[in-house]
This record gives sequence, C-alpha cells and structure tokens, in this order.
Amino acid sequence: MISSKEKILDSSVQYIKSVGPKRAESFYKIGIKTIRDLLFYFPSRHLDRTTVINAASAYGYVINGYQGEVTIIGTVEDVERIRLRKELLKVHFRDATGFFECVWFQGVKYFEKVFNTGDIFAISSKPEINYNKLQFIHPDFDRITEEESQNFINTGKIIPFYRIPKELKARNIGDLSLRRIISYAVENYVDHLDETLPPDIIKDENLIDIISAVRNYHFPESKELFERAKKRFKFEEMFYIETLVALRKHNYGTKLSGNALTIKTKLISDMLKTLPFELTKAQLKVLSEIKKDMMSDKPMNRLLQGDVGSGKTIVSLIAMLIAVDNGFQAAIMAPTEILADQHAKNISVMMNKLFEIHNDKKIKVSLLLGGQKKSVRDKNLEAIELQEADIIVGTHALFEEKVKFNNLGLVVIDEQHRFGVRQRSQLQSKGKTPDVLVMSATPIPRTLSMTIYGDLDISVIDEMPKNRKPIKTVLRGENKLPEIYKFIIDKRKEGYQSFLVYPLVEESEKLELKAATTLFEELSNSHLRELKLGLIHGRMSWQDKEEVMRRFLKKEFDALVSTTVIEVGIDIPDANIILINDAQRFGLSQLHQLRGRVGRSNKQAYCILVAKDSVVSRTNQRELELEYLSPVQIEKYKSTVRLQTMAKYTDGFKIAEIDLKLRGPGDIFGTLQSGFPELKYADIINDTQIIIDAKQKAFSIVEKDPSFKFPENQIIKQNLLNRYSESLKYATIA
Ligand code: ADP
Ligand code: MG
Repeated sequence: MISSKEKILDSSVQYIKSVGPKRAESFYKIGIKTIRDLLFYFPSRHLDRTTVINAASAYGYVINGYQGEVTIIGTVEDVERIRLRKELLKVHFRDATGFFECVWFQGVKYFEKVFNTGDIFAISSKPEINYNKLQFIHPDFDRITEEESQNFINTGKIIPFYRIPKELKARNIGDLSLRRIISYAVENYVDHLDETLPPDIIKDENLIDIISAVRNYHFPESKELFERAKKRFKFEEMFYIETLVALRKHNYGTKLSGNALTIKTKLISDMLKTLPFELTKAQLKVLSEIKKDMMSDKPMNRLLQGDVGSGKTIVSLIAMLIAVDNGFQAAIMAPTEILADQHAKNISVMMNKLFEIHNDKKIKVSLLLGGQKKSVRDKNLEAIELQEADIIVGTHALFEEKVKFNNLGLVVIDEQHRFGVRQRSQLQSKGKTPDVLVMSATPIPRTLSMTIYGDLDISVIDEMPKNRKPIKTVLRGENKLPEIYKFIIDKRKEGYQSFLVYPLVEESEKLELKAATTLFEELSNSHLRELKLGLIHGRMSWQDKEEVMRRFLKKEFDALVSTTVIEVGIDIPDANIILINDAQRFGLSQLHQLRGRVGRSNKQAYCILVAKDSVVSRTNQRELELEYLSPVQIEKYKSTVRLQTMAKYTDGFKIAEIDLKLRGPGDIFGTLQSGFPELKYADIINDTQIIIDAKQKAFSIVEKDPSFKFPENQIIKQNLLNRYSESLKYATIA
C-alpha cells in the first residue's frame, strides 16, 4: 500500500547529488541505504543563535568571572605553529567585534590542516584570558559556510550538526558536505513521505505532520518547530510500541479459554497454618488480586513487584497450590540453577510439613535443570508428562521442547528482569492459556513498568515483614578493614554469619582488584584465622555452589568469601553482615540486591561498603544532588553518588529511580527486558507525559478496533507490518 510517490524514497542513496556509488558504499556501511534512511538521519545537535555570543561579550564574561562554556563564530585569520619547550598550534580568529585565539598542545599536525585562512568556524569551549588575549584551549569546533554564517547571523537560521562516523570521513564527507547532501535530500524528497500516523491522532495530540517534522528536525525554521518535530517522533515511536503492548494484552486477555479456578479444599488454609509467621497486609492484598485473576475465566497475566526480602516466594507458592488444588500443574522458573535448587528444596520441605496436617494429598515437587544427569532428567520429564509432579521448579531448561506438561495451569517466573517477553510466551505456550505470574525484585519507576510491562497487571508488595529492622549501611575506607574484621569476629558470638563479597574471581593485576580466591587464602591465615571460612565463586559448578551454601546455612561456616554469585534470591537467615569490597565497582541495583541477602530475620543487620580511602573521603566530603549535576558530572561522580545513595536509602524504588538516572534508559532496557525495541527518540525518564499520552491512545484504539478494520486505522496496520513485523510475532494482529 505504499504510494508511488513514496516508492522513490526506497531508491539507493547514491542518486542524491554528490553521493554517487563510491560514497554510497560508505553510507551503506552505517546503515543508510535508501533516500528515506538519509531523511531520517537526524542531527545530533544544532547551533542556535540564542546560544552564540561575540568576542567582545566573551571577553566581558571572563572578566566578570563567568566559568561556563560559550559558543562563538569566527573567521580564521592566521595559523601559527609555535615552538616553545613543546610545540603548540595557535589559530587566530576574528569576528565583527574583535579577535580571539584557539590553542592546541596536542595533535598540532592534524589541527594545522583543519584550519585554513578564511574558513569560518563555530567554536565552543570555556573562554580564558591569557596575556590579555581571549583564548580557547582545545575547544570543540564545527565548520560552517560563509552563506550559513550570514543566514545564521542575519535571519537566525539554525544550523544542524551530524554525527560523522569514520566510514564517511574516509570518503571525505565532513560537516559541510554531509549538511549539503542532507539538505539536498530534504529539499527534493521530503514531500514524497507518506504520513505514518492517522490524521485524527495528529489533530488530537496537536502534532506536526511527518513532512514538516522531518524538515524541521534537520533545518528548523524556529526553535519551537524543532521541539515539535522531536515531540512528533517521540510520540510516534511510543505509540507504535504501546500498540504492540496493547495487542499482546488484548490477545491474551480476551481468549476466554482461561481456567476459572475455585478454592476446593482446605489446602490453602492448612498451608498457612504451617508457616512460622503471618502474612503481611501487603502479601494478603496481592494474594487476593492473584486469586481473583485465577478464579476468573480469563487467564491471569500479572507482575508481582516487591523489594528483595519482601516475601514474594510464599505468595507464589500459595498461587501454585491453588492451581494444584484444581488439578493443574504449576511451574516456577528461576534465573539460576542454584536458586531453582533452593526453591525446590524449600518447597519440598514445606510440602512435607503440609502433608502432616493435610494428608489427603501429597504434593510432589520436581526439579528440572540443564546440567542434570540424563537418567535423572528422563525420570523428571516423565513425571512432568504423566503429572506425577505437581509443582515443577526449574531454570530456562523448563521451556525446552522436550518438556511436556500434562496439564499446566500456572507459570511463575521469578526475577522476571532476567527473562524477556519471548521466554515468557515460550513458557506460556507449554499449557493451554495458563495463568502467568511474573515476579521482580527490581523495583522500577512507574513509567518504565507501564511501558515495558504494559500488558501485565501489576501487584506490589510495598511492605516488609514486621520483624525486620532496617539494615545499617556504612561506608568505610580500606584502612578500617582490621576493625571491620574484628567486628565480624565479635558478632559471631551473637550467632551472626557474614558475607564477604569481592568483585572478581581471579587476580587481575590491571584492575588491582582483590580476588575472592586470593583473599580467601589470605584471610584464613590472618585476620579471620579464628573463623571457619567458606568460598564460593562463579567458576564453581552449581552443585558445588549449592553444597557451600548448604553448609553455610547449617553454620559449618561463619563467613562466606564470595563473588556476586550470592546476588539473587538465596536465603540464609543468620547471615546478617555483608561486607562489600571495592564497593565503588558495583552498580547500584547490584549493591541493593547484595544488601538484600542480609536482614532477613529479626536481628539487626549490617551492610559495610568498603572502598579506597580516597573514594571514601570524596564521598563523605559533600552530598551530591543528582538534579544539579550535568551529564558530564554524573558520569564523573557516578561511583560517589552510588555509595551515598546506598548509605542514605533502603527503599528499592528510590534506589531504582536514582539508578535509572545514573545509567540512562538504554542501559536499563538492555538489562531489564530483552526483546524490547530500542528507543531512538523517546527518553523514558524525561518524556513521561508523552509516553502516557501515547499509551492511552494506543490502548484505546486497540480496544475499539483490535484487528484494525476501521479505515482510519489502516495507516497503523500498514506501519506495524512494515516496521514492526519482528515484534508482531508476540502480538499477532488478525
Ligand atoms: P523475596 O521477595 O526477595 O523473594 P523471599 O520470598 O525469599 O523474599 O522472603 C524472604 C524471607 O522472608 C524468607 O525467609 C521468608 O520465609 C520470609 N518471609 C516471607 N514472608 C514473611 C512474613 N510475612 N513474615 C516473616 N517472614 C516472612
Ligand atoms: Mg525471591
């Protein structure tokens, strides 16, 4: 359904003036194949008159103590290579109000060739006054033409700057030529673009049409139009992503063949009797939400969020028992073998206890792992297929083809962030529209969760079990280690066990990190001689890891030297001290997860973050408020902010929010959800309102017209098929 005028945009970029076959090859290499691709190669920034000052004002700024950056436009007067102790390059510029100099101490030869007398440049940097001259040391610079500079100065025309990958540079395409090439493409072809959003949406959301949006993204007529161009593409991007999410939700939610369960026996109430604690209000609340879903004839599709230690496992176990009580099998998938193993053992113990008071049915648990012996595995597979197993615990081994459930009614996915949409639907397909419960200990801000988990209903456990005391978190320099070891030894007398965490397994001279193995030897022979130490690290087989954890649980060890393998899920109630070495090396969510390993009982728990003395003194010096930091500063002070955040907050949501700001959305998407399209325009932190609007629109359209039959929705259908065919696999449209 592509119109004929649009077709021409699919021609090779080589037909654009001053491209040709040779240069086209370089464009291909960076993913620009067609004229359309070129039209959508947007500038990374613009030069705008309101941000440019002249030489006289720059001089004045410095005199008045201004410390920031400025942008200034000048013509090259003269290029001078000066030999003092070392060689340097001085480029003399002038503008209408005076003179200034740019100085390079490095790359003299290279920069000498860049600056030619008569050329015009926009220079950006912090100005200085040296020997009474206005100077810029190693500034950023962009070349512009005489005409551009005239238009810029006289009419305020905004100039775009593009990223120029090395493939283009190799063909002699620089700022000026790329701008000329793109300008030609925009002039001659932008009108060929077909609109990609329905007219109603454009009107309702007050968006600009695609042609003006592309034009103004490159060569804005005004700042305002540039902002509106950006907004249009952000909205469009989120609209299509949310349409996919809405479709997924619609498809799953409206299949009426879900299983309507009931509470048949006293199984659940008997189960609760066996617990050594009462469920928290929050656990009861999410359970009633889950129960309601399971009782309804629509399949459940729910996300259970709760901070580490909030007690998600028991909630999921009760849900599994409801399924089992109704004659179904329930499966729980964990991200690591050791965690799956632990779940299986804990559940088995609980089922044995349950059987003591509820003896009409023994609930059988089966464990399925990738590394199992063939004989064990075959036996398990058979038990699953014949429904001799009621609760099946496993890793991703669960969704292998060989695994055939007899009657799968509920799928639980623990630590959802480790799995993607694809895995979720793979496991789902193992049953006949089973209920699905995914659990995540990564508390993510609302916008993010409604975006990536938008097809799920959300339940939150927002309360910790009552007996918990907040974990005391402190930051200490390495010179304090002897005292910390003494503290660990003293606390052992009160029954405390400790985790000693190190970032890497083996000594890496380059990083100067202490490795767990070396440290284990050292500590056993020195500071912690009187303690029984265990060692666990990522290179061990899961059976060995499990064995160590089991011995630690049985208190055969007082302290466990480990790498981050203890990160997820493991539960050792008496381990109430965690010492994290080189804490500045860990990411924030990782630190929070690690800290969540302790404080799982009613004793006071401690998290001791240890870092280089210099890091500690810097961190303690002053508190950094993210709001006031520039991106460059955030990059620079990341580790400081992370450590301060850990010391200040225990709330996982708050920590996740800060983590998001530190790491940026792209990174989070990568780790949170494989299978989520990468965002090109929208920014998950700053574009909240646009995202909410796009989501509302998408959901309301899918609700009214899920198979896109209405004429006004043909545009949407076409664009989904053209641009998102890959993702459509998980969200079929009729
Ligand atoms: P997470 O949400 O991190 O998966 P778990 O389910 O592993 O947390 O629970 C952590 C610990 O808290 C477990 O030892 C569990 O038995 C215990 N627990 C769960 N719910 C309660 C409760 N309501 N009161 C006291 N302890 C609880
Ligand atoms: Mg857990």
